[in-house]
Parts: sequence; structure tokens; C-alpha cells
Amino acid sequence: MSMNFEFSAHQRELQLTARAFANTHLSGIRALLRPLTTPEARFEATRPAYVAAVEAGYLKAQIPSALGGTFTSLLDFTLIVEELMAVEASVPLSILSTGLGLMPLLFFGDPAQCRRFIPPFSRGTGAPLAAVSFSEPDGTANYHHPDPALGFQTSARLEGDEWVLSGKKIWTPHARGWGGSGADLLAVAARVDLTKPAQESLSIILIPGNSPGITVTESIETVGHPGAEVCIVHYDNVRAPRENLLGQVGDGIRIAETAFAATAGLVGIMAVGVARKAFDMALQFARNERRGGAVPIIAHQNVATILADMKAKIEAARYLSWKACDNFDRSRGQHQELSILSKVFCSELMLTVITDAMRVVGAEAYRESNGLAELLKDALAYPLFDGGNVGVRRLQLQRILAGADYDPMAAAEGQFTTS
Ligand SMILES: Cc1cc2nc3c(=O)[nH]c(=O)nc-3n(C[C@H](O)[C@H](O)[C@H](O)COP(=O)(O)OP(=O)(O)OC[C@H]3O[C@@H](n4cnc5c(N)ncnc54)[C@H](O)[C@@H]3O)c2cc1C
Repeated sequence: MSMNFEFSAHQRELQLTARAFANTHLSGIRALLRPLTTPEARFEATRPAYVAAVEAGYLKAQIPSALGGTFTSLLDFTLIVEELMAVEASVPLSILSTGLGLMPLLFFGDPAQCRRFIPPFSRGTGAPLAAVSFSEPDGTANYHHPDPALGFQTSARLEGDEWVLSGKKIWTPHARGWGGSGADLLAVAARVDLTKPAQESLSIILIPGNSPGITVTESIETVGHPGAEVCIVHYDNVRAPRENLLGQVGDGIRIAETAFAATAGLVGIMAVGVARKAFDMALQFARNERRGGAVPIIAHQNVATILADMKAKIEAARYLSWKACDNFDRSRGQHQELSILSKVFCSELMLTVITDAMRVVGAEAYRESNGLAELLKDALAYPLFDGGNVGVRRLQLQRILAGADYDPMAAAEGQFTTS
């Protein structure tokens, strides 16, 4: 995208096609999920929409063309993500979680690894699932702790030509797989030597989700995104060939941070999509409802002012997400500052847009069937996942800001290296 923000014909087509897809395949999903009482049942119910999203090319759109996909840029992909999220967040979250699951491979996989693992995801058919299995039940925030006795405890040791991996993970998306068959691919973070700190030992190993020794002990009942499943996973002497290690031993922090930074830019636009829906609902209400008065409530200054401020926040968050993804694209993943900033800023600001929408609507917003509270429940996840805003401010952003070569204008000017 050039400085004038003009959409190319291709970008406009991506946007309109995604809008039509969402209206056709995603708009009825919440009603379908509502009567289902378990996370497993709700996730299974999203399968036709997930298949439709795969067939529409939304997995391929996250895979570079050199590897069989149709990815053009993260910036282009934001146009798709916003349109899907503005209709229904659950299925897009599953598609994006699979995209996140592939990121370590896409950024750090060698040609042989890419040839082995990517084809099911670039085919454009079926319902392949991938996930990053990083977070641990005893805490993720200190995963990088320099004391080897602390931090992540999932281990992988080499036995002959095989990794043998044991430990527990939490919040691993759809690890149970469709019908309990296991996800197709898990990128699991494990320390190859528990006597050495994460900086030297944390590594990412690719593991098919149906490998013997993997048990999903729980599908977590979450506050929002009712159709997207997140699991607690036990790894008990799970075996994987030596060549399933991504990069080198000790690359785990760098790989995870790059993968999460790529999705950070997308989290910003996910939040925008959900907030846009809240704005549309509040606007409709304000234009059509008089609430016993003489005029539609939008004619009252206080209502119009809230709506105007909501719109300004959405516009600002959207452009920041675009710019963050553009920087990430042009730096080939090396400029992560704006991605993380946009994730933090947009995810928090868009929560205020949704509560503003509830203020416009008033008490009716508290009726379950109104739908605004559901949007709030979905959006509550965005500051908490992808490392959490507390965590990425404290770790990545602090490190970037404290760096000896930090240039505060580099993000705006697009000045970065692309080694
Ligand atoms: C819907 C959803 C999807 C997710 N998807 C994935 C996924 O695909 N893959 C994956 O691996 N994980 C996933 N997660 C987990 C997510 O990425 C979390 O951000 C991550 O686990 C970190 O959690 P946490 O910050 O709450 O860490 P915790 O370790 O639980 O820490 C909790 C809090 O303690 C405080 N704290 C702890 N230590 C410190 C410290 N040293 N300094 C200051 N404060 C501290 C902070 O306030 C922190 O927020 C998902 C989570 C959700 C809810």
C-alpha cells in the first residue's frame, strides 16, 4: 500500500469477497452454537464453516506462494481478517490459530520441513488444524527465566535420532482435533536441557497432534469465542524425528517471538473487526430508537458524541494495524515494535468502543440476546492472549525501547534492516 492508502483492485476484491463469505458462512454460527453446552460440541459445530473458510482460501492466504499458498502480504490479509471478524469471531480465530501454528515453520522451517508439513495446509481442502503449543499451566510470563529451575518445564531429550518430549501445555488451540483425532501439526516449545536456561535450551519441535503420548485432558470453557476450542495437553514421552527441530537448539525464544509478533499485528485488526460490529449495532439502535422521546436518540448530542468518538477510535486502530502489518511485511518480520504496539493499543481501545456501544444502547445492551455483551466477551481475549499485553509491554517493548540503537522515528519512517 502506498502512502495515499488507496486500495489496489486486488485488495478491494479481497475485502469484498471476504465480506460476502462472512455473510454467507459465518453470520448464522452464534445461533447454532448457543444451545450447545460443551466446548467440544461447539467446536465440532463450526467444522462446516471452517471447511468453507479453507476452501475460500483463508488458510492458503497465510502461506507464501513459494510454499504453495497465496499469501501476498500481512497487510492484505488484514482486509480479510477485519471482514470475517466483523461478522463472527469464533471461526476466524480457529483459522488464525492454525495460521499462528504454521508461523514457526513458515519463518524458520528448512525446505525439507516445509515440503513435509505444509501441503495439507496449502491444499485448500479439508479442515487441517495447526497450533502453537507454547503456554504452560504453571505460568507462561516467566518462560524465559534465566534460572533453569524456573520457567518452562516441558522437556525434550534426544534418544538416538528421536526427540522424546514430556510436559504439560495450556491454551493450545484445537489440539483435540476434529472428532478427537488430534490436530494435524503442533509447534511445541520444549527445553532440550533442563539444566540450562531457556535462552540456551528452549526449542520448537514439530509434532503431529495424533502422536502416541499426547492426551488432551480438558477443553477449556472460555468466556467468549464459543466455537474456538483451547485445550490442556499432556505430552508423555512423545516421540518425533530429530529433523523435526525448527532452527537450532535454543532458537525457541526467537521463533516464538517472531510468530507471536506476526499475529500481534493481526490481533489489532481482529479487535477492530469486533468493535466495528459493536459500532454498527449502536448506530442502528441510535438511528431507529426514540426510547419514548420525540426523535431518534442519535439526535441527542450526548449520543452522537459517543458514536463519533467510537468511530474515531476504530479508524485510528485500523490504520495503526495496517501500518504495523506493512512494517512487518517490508522488514520480513524484523520490525516488531509497531506490531506489538498496535496489538496492545487496539485490543485495549476496542474494549472501550464496545462498552461505549453499550452506553449508547443503555439497559437493552444487558439483555443476553442483544449481542453486544457477546462481542465484549470475545474482545476480552485480545489483551490477554498472544503473550498478553502485560507480558509484551514488559518483555518485548521494554527491550526494544531500551535498545542502544532504538530510533523512535524508525517505525513511522519505515527505517529498518531486512537481513
Ligand atoms: C483464547 C486464548 C487463546 C490462546 N492461544 C494460545 C496459543 O495459540 N498458543 C499458546 O501457547 N498460548 C495461547 N494462549 C495463552 C496466551 O498466549 C497467554 O498470553 C500466555 O499464556 C501468557 O499468559 P499470562 O500473561 O496470563 O501468563 P501467566 O504466567 O499466567 O501470568 C499471569 C500474570 O502474572 C503477572 N506476572 C507474572 N510474572 C510476572 C513478572 N515477571 N513481572 C510482572 N508481572 C508478572 C502478570 O500480570 C501476568 O499477566 C491463549 C490464551 C487464550 C485466552
